[in-house]
Amino acid sequence: MNRKYNLKNPVDMVRIIAREQFTFPGCYELIALMDDSVLLCSQCVRNNYKDIIYSTKHGNKDGWEVIGILNDSDLDGDACCDHCEKNFSEEEENEDEEKRL
Ligand SMILES: [Zn+2]
Repeated sequence: MNRKYNLKNPVDMVRIIAREQFTFPGCYELIALMDDSVLLCSQCVRNNYKDIIYSTKHGNKDGWEVIGILNDSDLDGDACCDHCEKNFSEEEENEDEEKRL
């Protein structure tokens, strides 16, 4: 697959997150950093793709504008998607089990 993404272009970041969903190599989930500094998971980027592309293209700063791209290895602890509240670290399951009383 020939990738022609330009990571300096936020619209391409949106495309990557929506199409790839995971980093390669590494298989970390891609996460969008929005203009109001919340995080959006790749699934929510997909679900709101039109709005996000539009805002990002036009620099709307309305909460749908993507300003960065992260993956779940960049995040510490309890980061979750602002939209669906999915916890990005939930794959590492049962780590809290021992702390539970
Ligand atoms: Zn989400």
